[in-house]
Amino acid sequence: MARTAIVLIGKLLDVAPYTDQSPGFLARTFRMKTHPYLGEDSEGKQIKIYNPRPINRFYDFILQKVRLRIGSPNESSKRVFDGYISLDIADLSIFESEKSIFITLVFSGCAGMAETSNVVLAHWLQKVLIDYRTECEDFLINENHFELRDFEQCFVNEIIIATKSYGYGILNKNFVLDEADGFESILEFDKAYLENLDDPEAFYSTVNKQFANFASITSCQCQYCNPNSQEKDIEP
Ligand SMILES: [Zn+2]
Repeated sequence: MARTAIVLIGKLLDVAPYTDQSPGFLARTFRMKTHPYLGEDSEGKQIKIYNPRPINRFYDFILQKVRLRIGSPNESSKRVFDGYISLDIADLSIFESEKSIFITLVFSGCAGMAETSNVVLAHWLQKVLIDYRTECEDFLINENHFELRDFEQCFVNEIIIATKSYGYGILNKNFVLDEADGFESILEFDKAYLENLDDPEAFYSTVNKQFANFASITSCQCQYCNPNSQEKDIEP
């Protein structure tokens, strides 16, 4: 898993024809509606591909919702905001296939270095799409003339735990302490934070013992889902 994607499915509403005097958003919407080029999807089916630029503002809008919801970010959230989202990791696209319009937001895992931050960001944006669905729908209608019907969720029921020094960790629900070899971990971290470990085996052993009791928790502990949850720094 190197990249995650959020896929919005809907349709474009009809808009008035573009003229030089059209207001900005109409011009943007119209370009999006009328200047597609033809391409192929992964199965070789012909699709119309639209200019993705008009959707940048929607990405900023849902990111802003995450920031407002989280408020003052803890160390783990800061690592996602400053160490991951601030990099140019989002690849947005719009295409039409079989009468539906698909808006895809794809996020890079930075060649494996940031796969946990990758999942955390997708998890947060999915939460925004659920918790602020009406506001998201209104924004897309007003800005893009896009009527949102549905969206595909790529990560559900993840348990994410804030560890401060190593950022967020994703709980490996299949982990069994007694069966683990030296390099198996109950929490999956961004590889970027593990590169300089002197003794990875000792680190995993510490993590596995410290978080063994978390195997049975059922609610996500990230700062978005659980604002009162304290970060659990890893004890050496
Ligand atoms: Zn969460």
